[in-house]
Amino acid sequence: MRIALDVDGVLADLAGMIIELYEEMTGVRISREMITEWEFWVKLNMTRGEFLKLIIRAWERWDKLQPLEDDLEEDTKNLMELGEVDILTQRPAETVEYVKKWLRLHGVAYRRFVWVPLKGSKDSFVYDVYIDDSPRLAERLANKRPLMLLYDQAWNQKAPKASNIVRIVSLDDGFNRLAENLGMV
Ligand SMILES: [Mg+2]
Repeated sequence: MRIALDVDGVLADLAGMIIELYEEMTGVRISREMITEWEFWVKLNMTRGEFLKLIIRAWERWDKLQPLEDDLEEDTKNLMELGEVDILTQRPAETVEYVKKWLRLHGVAYRRFVWVPLKGSKDSFVYDVYIDDSPRLAERLANKRPLMLLYDQAWNQKAPKASNIVRIVSLDDGFNRLAENLGMV
């Protein structure tokens, strides 16, 4: 089983750092609950380009970027017992080295690091399982072959419902779903 594991919004709390940076820039504190849209920069009157610059600035502070789960090392080691786990992450090229350092800092276990450029698409890779928070990816994978474990976030509540899209609230939850699928429990 080949598993594609996302970073932003699944392992790393990018949104938390964006909220901090936005407050530094504007003096305005956005609440997490406000981020109910994938394209939430539109709400902030930002262009996609400006938002991408903000993501780069957030990752420049990689050592301050918080993990979304308490024990990423254990969670990812568990996943590795079920299959081959690749980090599959779409992001500006400038952030790739910071992300690799962050993964090392938090002991994240994985086989390969696969970078998807902004112009690319994750569904053009061949994986059996995607663990991801993107509602856009859910739209593309709905009713297709791979299983998508949709990591629960405020910005993916309107993602399509389909038999191959399963909402999970944690990596542990995802592990249990996969283990069930494999008949291991
Ligand atoms: Mg993500």
